[in-house]
Amino acid sequence: MENNLPKATHQHTRTHNRRLIFRTIFDHDRISRADVARATGLTRTTVSQVVDNLIRRKMVKEVGTGSSTGGKSPILLSVPSNARQLIGVDLGSPEFRGAIVNLRGEIQYSLTMPLDGQQGTAALERAFNLIDALKAHATSPLLGIGVGVPGVIDPTKGSSVHWAVNLSWLDLPIRALLKKRYRLPIYVANDAHAAVLAESFFGNCKNLNLIVVKVESGVSAGIFANGELWKGDGFGAGEIGHVTVVENGPLCNCGHRGCLEAVIRKDALVQRVRLAAQNDAGRLRERVRNWNALSFDDIVWAWHANDPATTTVVCETAQFLGSALANLVGAWNINHIVLAGPLKGFGERFLQEIRKTMSSHALAHLVEDTQIEYSTLGAEIVILGASALLLDEVFGM
Ligand SMILES: [Zn+2]
Repeated sequence: MENNLPKATHQHTRTHNRRLIFRTIFDHDRISRADVARATGLTRTTVSQVVDNLIRRKMVKEVGTGSSTGGKSPILLSVPSNARQLIGVDLGSPEFRGAIVNLRGEIQYSLTMPLDGQQGTAALERAFNLIDALKAHATSPLLGIGVGVPGVIDPTKGSSVHWAVNLSWLDLPIRALLKKRYRLPIYVANDAHAAVLAESFFGNCKNLNLIVVKVESGVSAGIFANGELWKGDGFGAGEIGHVTVVENGPLCNCGHRGCLEAVIRKDALVQRVRLAAQNDAGRLRERVRNWNALSFDDIVWAWHANDPATTTVVCETAQFLGSALANLVGAWNINHIVLAGPLKGFGERFLQEIRKTMSSHALAHLVEDTQIEYSTLGAEIVILGASALLLDEVFGM
């Protein structure tokens, strides 16, 4: 082993220098070799060697000349946004979503794959189909695949999925399976953890402390504290979806009853409105002929149309969520909470209902200082977060 050490260290230094130089050019957009050397503290010879290599690999290109300070005008370097592409996938929505993303986090092509309630191996097969289809649309060399999974991901066990309740994945070695199939760098993260990173990288909020709560086919939170993702001792930080909110409530996929997720996840909410509105003379009854076809969009419509049964169920949903958020505020005192997922359709009035409950469930002055808003990143939030994680892994972004 000892004989290999100097070689390993040398390799490590080379990788470190390459990342540092690439990152510096990426951040500056147009920069000369001399300025890269100044910014990184590396010698001009090292910078030139690494840059030549990056140019050969088409990851950096020369883009004209800068202004001279006496001698020859310096040649400027830039990273083309499409020098590499990557695949970002969100497996935490009712239909799997994925996209081809470039180095600047711009979505180049996106695709959804209906899940039709599939679980286990069949769901994994759908994920493969989605990635296969995306891979076929890549127009630049692929850097890797970033995947957001709605479950606890254990990095000490090779990023296997410890448990994804709604997909029935238990101890699934997803990273190894994807690596074997695609032979690319793979990064797997919990979907809410990916969402909070997306919000801090690409969103409006640049705070060092931030919580993103994602409500879709599951409910979970990503906690960003002191500028870092808080994963927790067992990598399950933010798994608020399986905290009981209704004693003896509806059965959850985790085996317990009355979990927050079993009550407010997208399809559970549709089901609750269906039960409440079917025998009600409200506006939703005028709109919906077939109750089995009741959609989330119908509920958003009915909420804005002040349908009484819908209003009751949606306000109750705000109370369940508000109580969960009050616990997060009490435990973390993080002043900025972002809601991701389709609940955004309910608008400002829904946020007001959440705030009302929070104020009565946590210290009022802590809640007063807490800002709650919807994410502006839309349905691609997890895809962007998974991409950011992959870029960080490969380039130290
Ligand atoms: Zn549960």
